[in-house]
Amino acid sequence: MTVYNFAAGPATLPDPVIKQIQAELPSLQGTGMSILEISHRSAMFDDIINTAKQDIRDLMHVPDNYHVLFFQGGGTGQFAAVPLNLATNHKRIALLDSGHWATRAGDEAANLGVAVNVLATTKADHYRQLPHSNKPLSAAEYDYLHVTTNNTIEGTAYHTLPEHGDVTLVGDLSSNFMAEEYNVNDFGLIFGGVQKNLGPAGVTIVIVRDDLVKPVEHIPSILNYSLFVKKNSMFNTPPVFAIYATGLVLKWLKQQGGLAEIEKINREKSSLLYDFLDESKLFTNYIKQSDRSLTNVPFTTDDADLDKQVIQAASDAGLMNLKGHRSVGGLRASLYNAMPTEGVQALVDFLNNFEKNH
Ligand code: PMP
Repeated sequence: MTVYNFAAGPATLPDPVIKQIQAELPSLQGTGMSILEISHRSAMFDDIINTAKQDIRDLMHVPDNYHVLFFQGGGTGQFAAVPLNLATNHKRIALLDSGHWATRAGDEAANLGVAVNVLATTKADHYRQLPHSNKPLSAAEYDYLHVTTNNTIEGTAYHTLPEHGDVTLVGDLSSNFMAEEYNVNDFGLIFGGVQKNLGPAGVTIVIVRDDLVKPVEHIPSILNYSLFVKKNSMFNTPPVFAIYATGLVLKWLKQQGGLAEIEKINREKSSLLYDFLDESKLFTNYIKQSDRSLTNVPFTTDDADLDKQVIQAASDAGLMNLKGHRSVGGLRASLYNAMPTEGVQALVDFLNNFEKNH
């Protein structure tokens, strides 16, 4: 039975990448040593990390005045690192409350003594559409505006970035990093763990404009951008395996034709599912059409017991991990970069059959 994994992250990886890892695991490049064993101070790893950085630059067209850094600690680590490094002038940030992860980012900044001004929220609407604010923003007031480009749990995405005046835009791209194209120049900083669209759990990518990287005192070294720039992301032992595996996924993304092609495929994949859901008399996706995510598609029968039955029957058919986040309930299909179109088609066929037999 072909198994398709719709998990929200860690998530499915490209088959050729899994096979390459398997083939290379006992002996990397004929050295007789595994990637699991090699030193981060070796020439071989230097090549791996620098190639990965360059491939990120190529894929996202990262301008020269931006650094590409690797951290540990996930998106959650960056909820602390970003305010610690960037909210140093006014100690005040703006936030668009688009869901669970935006709220978490705001809470962590507040926890660190930063004033968090929520410009708009769609909480009352269960985050089924994106918040927008037309209040003009000024850098005289805020260190940055935090925006969650894709809301993993709620299933919305900013395909067009919000207005931010002259205020630095910080993007949490955790769940649509390289799944759709953004212009890096529009952001001061982008971050996200790789475990959804780009690799296994363990490494977090940060892309930051160089004028924002300043020496900051009294913050943990492990979250210090200026130190990580100086040390080529190897201030301490980096997650060697995760960076290697991410490097393989980046090569695979290049082979697929780069991000324009990847976004096109992701649009086709998600349309396949949304079109079915919009026609269905049993299943519904409640998200405002223009705000729908390409990577996370929540849906429901509106009957919790029936939703459970669908999840169980799907898993019996090899369609795994379709349970929605506990805060939303229902089902959620995550359609990240490595989910093949055939997987989405198999899901649509299954749901269609379920509905017919219901
Ligand atoms: N932001 C978003 C949008 C996420 O989806 C997640 C994880 N699901 C996080 C932040 C937290 O990331 P991590 O688990 O890597 O700390």
